[in-house]
Amino acid sequence: LNLLEKIDHVGVAVKDLEKALSFYRDFLGLEFKGFEEIEEQKVRVAFFPVGESKIELLETTDPEGPVGKFIEKKGEGVHHISFRVSDIEGKLRLLKEQGVALIDEKPRYGAGGAKIAFIHPRQTGGVLVELCER
Ligand code: ZN
Repeated sequence: LNLLEKIDHVGVAVKDLEKALSFYRDFLGLEFKGFEEIEEQKVRVAFFPVGESKIELLETTDPEGPVGKFIEKKGEGVHHISFRVSDIEGKLRLLKEQGVALIDEKPRYGAGGAKIAFIHPRQTGGVLVELCER
């Protein structure tokens, strides 16, 4: 039983999006795909495709937002790992039936119109795991 198709993206919390993106673009040579602001999660996001996956830089638009609180507690760094799935509702149901601690029992909308849901880090050795359906 393999619920996951591939790593969709790695989310990185940064304090200064312009500064962080210039490192990925100018020093690592990645192609900058533009910004997106996600009101619901109080973040501004920059994407860089890397092979079949992406790096997603996340800057908070509100110190009280989830990424703002993350940076306050842990500093900048890897915020979440996102795995591509199909039928995200079905996968969440299956995990819930098995007693897996979920942050989201129902998907919400993330960047690029993807459906996303988070698994609780206490379930995953401290890693915030996102499921993502595109
Ligand atoms: Zn994500």
